[in-house]
This record gives sequence, structure tokens and C-alpha cells, in this order.
Amino acid sequence: MTQHTDKPIIIAIDGHSSCGKSTMAKALAKRLDYTYVDTGAMYRAVTLYALRQGYIAADAIDETSLQNDIDRVSVDFGEDGKVRLNGESVESEIRGMEVSSSVSRISALPFVRRHLVACQRKMGERKRLVMDGRDIGTVVFPNAELKIFVTADAEVRAQRRYDELTAKGEPCVYEEVLANVKERDYLDEHRADSPLHVAEDAIVLDNSHLTIRQQNNRLMSLYRACQNRL
Ligand code: C5P
Repeated sequence: MTQHTDKPIIIAIDGHSSCGKSTMAKALAKRLDYTYVDTGAMYRAVTLYALRQGYIAADAIDETSLQNDIDRVSVDFGEDGKVRLNGESVESEIRGMEVSSSVSRISALPFVRRHLVACQRKMGERKRLVMDGRDIGTVVFPNAELKIFVTADAEVRAQRRYDELTAKGEPCVYEEVLANVKERDYLDEHRADSPLHVAEDAIVLDNSHLTIRQQNNRLMSLYRACQNRL
């Protein structure tokens, strides 16, 4: 439970693809009555924009056109918490394999990152924020009061993602999902701009063998410990 003496803080949750970061971050935000922001959804929305404009080919991205458009690509969240691309709710389109296969190439572009990081920092001006992504504790909010880095075995993550896609009726093959998870890890960790890595002051949480309940309890105790330190 939060107490009225609690200080408003920023909670940065970073980590690998498909390790349930969003689910845990959302649950924590709800429990604390904080705003939750899924920055992966923002990179996915820009990727969807580029796909729709025909800027992404198998072996190349039309960076010049995307860069020319970027200031007119507005990404925000509606009242329902769903991501919007220029005012249109695009939550379901951004979760498919087409966007997943291209998002790491789009998120490696420095002008895309600059554009979205500026939006993300504005969202944190009043604190009381749980933000999840890859660079929240390292780049977006290096002074965040609580930083958590979540990970799990690649096979466990691929199975979770596979179950999620099939439950939604999206046909997929486990081996392809696993390859996509591993490819995104590699691209996210090796890009030149803001690569995924554990911030020095982050707490690593491996949830391969944790239930959601155990994970949520662990998060709340990290939150309490953080408040006691402040
Ligand atoms: O979190 P999610 O898997 O939806 O993120 C999709 C992709 O967006 C990641 O694989 C990564 O390439 C990119 N991303 C990023 N920085 C963030 C959040 C996501 O580069 N803060």
C-alpha cells in the first residue's frame, strides 16, 4: 500500500523483449495510482507509420523520408491508455509480427530516439510515473529514484510471446518467435545509440521462474525500500 507520506518518484523499468515488463509495470502503476507509459509502444507506433508510408523494405529503410516526417509523427496515449499515432488508436496493429520484425531497426535511428525521448521526458515532469523500455534508467531518466532491469531466459520469453499471439488468433511459429526475441536482444544491445544495458544503480530481476504474484510482491517491496531510503 502507498502511504500519504510517500514521495512522488519515477520508476524506470528496463529489460529484454517479452519478459513481461509491461504487465508488471502496469500492475505497479495501478497499485500506486501512478501513470504508466509503455515506451516500446511508442517505438512500435513510429515503425507502423514507416511501414504504412512504405519506408521499410527488407534490406533498407528510407531514413531521409522518415526524418523529414518525424516532427509530424505524434505518438501519445489516449484516455484508455492505448497508444495513438497521430490521434488514431493503433494498439492492435503494433503488436503483430510485421511491426515486431522491423521495430529494432527503426528504434536504432538517432532522430527517432531524440523525438520520442523528448516526449517521454515531458511525461515525467510531475513524477508519479512508471515507465518501461530499454533506456529509461540509462538515458531518459538517469536520476530515476527506482530502477529495475527485468530479464528471463530467451526460451521462456519466446513461449510467453507465442502463447500471447496464438491467444489473440495471430498464427505464428514458435521457432520464428524465438528467433525474433533473440534478434531483438542482439540489435537492442548492440546499437550505437542508447544500447540496452543495466544501469549501474538498477536492481536486476530475473523472472524466469517467478509467478506474476511473486513478481508483483517483489516489486512492491523494492518500492517500499526505495521510499525508506528517500
Ligand atoms: O517493449 P517492446 O518489446 O514492445 O519494444 C519494442 C522495441 O522497441 C524493442 O525491441 C526496442 O527495439 C525498442 N525500444 C527501444 N527503447 C525503448 C523501448 C523500446 O529501443 N525505450
